[in-house]
Amino acid sequence: MTQAYEIIERNYDVVIVGAGGAGLRAALGMAASGLKTACVTKVFPTRSHTVAAQGGMAASLGNMGDGDNWRFHMYDTVKGSDWLGDQDAIEYMCREAVPSVLELEHYGVPFSRTDEGRIYQRPFGGQMLEYGKAMAQRTCAAADRTGHAILHTLYQQCLKHNTAFFVEYLALDLLMDEDGACRGMLAWNMEDGTLHRFRAHRTVLATGGYGRVYFSCTAAHTCTGDGNAMVLRAGLPLEDMEFTQFHPTGIYGSGCLITEGARGEGGYLTNSRGERFMERYAPSAKDLAGRDVVCRSMTIEINEGRGCGPLKDHILLHLEHLGAELLHQRLPGISETARIFAGVDVTREPIPVLPTVHYNMGGVPTNLHGEVVTMRDGDPEAVVPGLMAIGEAACVSVHGANRLGSNSLLDIIVFGRAAAHRVVETLRPREGHAHVSKEATDRAIARLDRIRWSKGKTGAGAIRLAMQRTMQRHCAVFRDGPLLEEGLSKLDGVIETMRADLKVADRSMMFNTDLAEALELDNMLAQASVSLRSAIGRTESRGAHARKDFPKRDDENWLKHSFCWLGDDGQVRLDYRPVHLQTLSNDVATIPPKERVY
Ligand SMILES: Cc1cc2nc3c(=O)[nH]c(=O)nc-3n(C[C@H](O)[C@H](O)[C@H](O)COP(=O)(O)OP(=O)(O)OC[C@H]3O[C@@H](n4cnc5c(N)ncnc54)[C@H](O)[C@@H]3O)c2cc1C
Repeated sequence: MTQAYEIIERNYDVVIVGAGGAGLRAALGMAASGLKTACVTKVFPTRSHTVAAQGGMAASLGNMGDGDNWRFHMYDTVKGSDWLGDQDAIEYMCREAVPSVLELEHYGVPFSRTDEGRIYQRPFGGQMLEYGKAMAQRTCAAADRTGHAILHTLYQQCLKHNTAFFVEYLALDLLMDEDGACRGMLAWNMEDGTLHRFRAHRTVLATGGYGRVYFSCTAAHTCTGDGNAMVLRAGLPLEDMEFTQFHPTGIYGSGCLITEGARGEGGYLTNSRGERFMERYAPSAKDLAGRDVVCRSMTIEINEGRGCGPLKDHILLHLEHLGAELLHQRLPGISETARIFAGVDVTREPIPVLPTVHYNMGGVPTNLHGEVVTMRDGDPEAVVPGLMAIGEAACVSVHGANRLGSNSLLDIIVFGRAAAHRVVETLRPREGHAHVSKEATDRAIARLDRIRWSKGKTGAGAIRLAMQRTMQRHCAVFRDGPLLEEGLSKLDGVIETMRADLKVADRSMMFNTDLAEALELDNMLAQASVSLRSAIGRTESRGAHARKDFPKRDDENWLKHSFCWLGDDGQVRLDYRPVHLQTLSNDVATIPPKERVY
């Protein structure tokens, strides 16, 4: 069954999908330069997942008197990425970190302060001085509510510069023309049920990560990676989708995050014997080793019978020795979270924790201007005209196989800003719009109708749970070939249920959350599928991708990024492009791959 839809036409210079830190930073730069800028978001801007970011944003300001430098930050990030990050992009991010943070300060972000009135900085995992020799204090923080402070400030600045917000609009699909250029995007206004065709010279995806593909994750329910799935449906690839970051300290049971800043302030982990086991796995950085290293160590402790509690299935995080005053001043948010979600008073007892899905290193491949790239006619990085991606949705790649804590708030701000610079440089305001083919709109509506009018018996909730359990069991901290293959065949079953037996009880278009969840689920299944297949493809261990059957990193064969396409028939194609080992300037030399120890 189909129904004619009312389609409202909207013309902008730029349309940004997403109002998290990445989308708002880009919107601000574009709107302030006089471009007619639309920002479309499925939740109210200040409810985007960025609001939940706690610990802070890395930049080598050196405010804590430790002689920090962007070269050290770059070295740590390349090492943290297990050498899969592109060194030119990492150089750009670490250099631009300093002006980007100062800009935020000037926009009004209420950072915590040192006694001298400078921005307060705390230690975070994998941050060192002098190329790995001593611990650094590099993470700029507003108590443990840094994302909240950044997001609210950026939203206010965007309003000041007349950004047009379209709130509670769900973007459905990109409008691609026959030549492979993006002409805009089709969105559903959930409030009144109308469809809106946004025509724009640039469409910027800032739709965030897809953590909700897993059963236990720290991300908001809205983190379903809709932009990534739109890119797959446009026949374009996603990059490095096998790399999912687990955070060491999700609260046991609920998965709520306890920031790495808690260990940065002096917290530590113990097993059932009360041992500070990280001393064995990472003798110098200990509890502040890379996240992948800490998660694997915790998992080994539990698997070898040294987990805590009656089921020996979790680890304890101690903060009680830090004292009530410091906890109140530096970590008020997580003190509250621990009380509500673990029933723990952090001034007296440890918090039960477990590795929990936290971040997606993979996403839409882009260059360091935020322009989406694909492999075309022998060019591994051909720009897709009209389409950009930034933030957690994008893969630049600055995080490679493992992101360092506090480098994501940095990434979203630096590349949101870079995308704005690029658009301002390359676009003249109010140029005429190219024709958008009717087929592009029809394709997007056909998908909407397929899901809206589906006639099966299984609700989206049940199908989603089956997908989440499959990913949690088969594509977790440790993987191996047979486990991944079994996961893939289970997932194919889940996808078949979605295709043949989905039930959407509510057929209306006004605030139909049943339909919205089904559309999001369809997006997540596509990403689960390419994640599993990319993981099966990579027969080595690197960063967050730890394969028991291939336990070593293999630079000879695998110093390359995975690209994964998903056909309409569900068929997947994998291809690879080399890592950029070259730097952006002559101010710094390539950091050659070596063993990663903390
Ligand atoms: C609990 C938690 C704590 C964290 N703490 C830190 C930290 O301390 N430091 C750090 O560096 N990183 C941290 N991270 C990671 C970091 O916060 C995120 O990677 C980052 O905020 C992502 O920002 P974003 O702008 O890309 O996306 P998001 O903030 O997730 O925003 C996505 C936007 O896209 C919109 N959207 C999505 N789909 C659609 C659609 N179909 N139609 C319309 N709009 C859509 C949403 O409405 C939203 O506005 C944390 C993450 C979590 C989950």
